[in-house]
Amino acid sequence: MPQASTSALVLSTTPLNEQDKLVCLLTSNQGLLKAVAPGAAKMKNRFGSLLELFTAGDFYYYWNEEKELATLSKGEIRQSFFAVVSMAENIFYFYLIAEIVLKFIPLNQCDDRMYKLLLAILRGRENKLAMDWLLLYFLVWFLRSEGLLFNPGRCSNCSTARMSRAWVRNDYRGLLCSNCKTSERLTLDREELAYIHWTARHHPQDSGLWAGRFLPASMIRLLVGKVEYHGEFALQSSRYLPEFR
Ligand SMILES: [Zn+2]
Repeated sequence: MPQASTSALVLSTTPLNEQDKLVCLLTSNQGLLKAVAPGAAKMKNRFGSLLELFTAGDFYYYWNEEKELATLSKGEIRQSFFAVVSMAENIFYFYLIAEIVLKFIPLNQCDDRMYKLLLAILRGRENKLAMDWLLLYFLVWFLRSEGLLFNPGRCSNCSTARMSRAWVRNDYRGLLCSNCKTSERLTLDREELAYIHWTARHHPQDSGLWAGRFLPASMIRLLVGKVEYHGEFALQSSRYLPEFR
C-alpha cells in the first residue's frame, strides 16, 4: 500500500471496535481524511495524545484506492490545543465547529482555507479572545468560503445599497431591504451588516474590536440556522451553547 503524510487537525476520534479508533482529520491541503488508528482504543498505544480533539500534527498513513478509510501508522504533535479546547466554557463551541466542518467539507477537497481558518480560531482562543466572537467569525468565513454568504451591501431584490437594516430571505439566499421585505422575520442591523464587511479584511485576532457594539448571540443563531438550511441537517452541538438556551 502507498504511504503518505499530511499536516492536519483532529476533528473527531471515535471507537471503531475494542482495539481501534476511527479518526477524522482536516488536512492542510486535501480536505477531510478518515483513517483507522490501529490499537488506539487500548490503554497503552503508540498515538498517545496525538488524537485529541483539534491537535495539530503531522500524520503518516497508508491508503488503498479501493478503501474509503486510510490506516494511520504514526504521527507527531505540532501543537496541542487540548487544554484550551477542553475547557468547560469552550468545549461545545469547538464541538460545533468540528461538527460543521465534518458535515460540510467533502473528502479530498484541495483547499487550505478551512485549515488556516481553524488554526486562527484556535490560536485566537489561546490568546483569550472571546469564544462567542470567534465562533461568529468562523461562521461568517465558513459561509463565505463555501460561496453561501449573502452580500451584506445589497438588497437581493431591488439591489439598493442603502440598507440600515436587512431581512434575511426565508430560504437564507440573500437579504432584503425594508421596501422589499414581506414575511421575513430574521434581521441583521447596521452594525451586524458592517461586521460581515469587516471580516473580509480582518484577522480573527482583531475581533475584540467589536465587543460592545452588538451582542453576537442573535447573529450566531441566524448563521447556524443558515448552515443547517444549506446543509439539510440539524447540528447536534449547538443546543449546548448559551446562545441557544
Ligand atoms: Zn430591496
